Amino acid sequence: MDKLIYRLFIYSGGGYDGCIWEYNVCFWDKDGKFHNAYSTGHDGIKDENDALETVKVLREFERDGVKNYHHPLSSRINQYTMLLDYTKEEDCKEIAEYGASLVTGIVKFINNVLQEDHNIFIKCHICEKTGQDLDDFQLDEAKHQGVASWYESFVCNECRSEFSCSYCGEDYRECQEALIMNDPDESPICVNCYQEKTERVRSRMQMMVKSNIDEAICCRNEIERREKLVEQVVCDMEEAAQQEPEENLLLNDATPNLL
Ligand SMILES: [Zn+2]
Ligand SMILES: [Zn+2]
Repeated sequence: MDKLIYRLFIYSGGGYDGCIWEYNVCFWDKDGKFHNAYSTGHDGIKDENDALETVKVLREFERDGVKNYHHPLSSRINQYTMLLDYTKEEDCKEIAEYGASLVTGIVKFINNVLQEDHNIFIKCHICEKTGQDLDDFQLDEAKHQGVASWYESFVCNECRSEFSCSYCGEDYRECQEALIMNDPDESPICVNCYQEKTERVRSRMQMMVKSNIDEAICCRNEIERREKLVEQVVCDMEEAAQQEPEENLLLNDATPNLL
């Protein structure tokens, strides 16, 4: 067999006690180095020789034009088992057809471990925008089967935020009437968060008004206290002024005697 480079092998691995199987993947990088990226259960590939043996069986099936593979020697191979070149555009289109969970794992492995270029494009299933950066997309539409669950599709961040509450992040695509969009430029907010936010604003305003009233009462009390003080001082002064002539009189009366 030719030396394998830039190859991704997707096969049916898994097979735990609970009879669950899942896709497993291994790679041959740009130098032909083997990477057993994800191998689970009794059907997971053990090493490169094991992988090459399975690829050989796959090629025999393909050569014979067998579409539905049922081979006692290779439960790893079914109609979805593929050996793909992750740098070739047409091969990568096929990779993108596998569920979003698997595609995410494959792209992460190529980016982070192999650190190589690939031609895998992720597609938003709503607006059909495509891109290579995983950060621009999110996993969407989960599928459950028995105890297993995986993501079927991707949604771009723009489509996700269009139908999500900008506060709690909850997805309201299925229940858009629960989203409030006051301003077309504003991010939508769900009814629950809107009520909570309104309640928070109301209680903050109540607290502000209360503190203003308290301050006003304080000011009024202070003003009253000062007014009383002024009144008291004026009273005292008036009293003093009234007493003054008598004192002066006394003094005046006394003065001649003194003189
Ligand atoms: Zn989109
Ligand atoms: Zn919300």
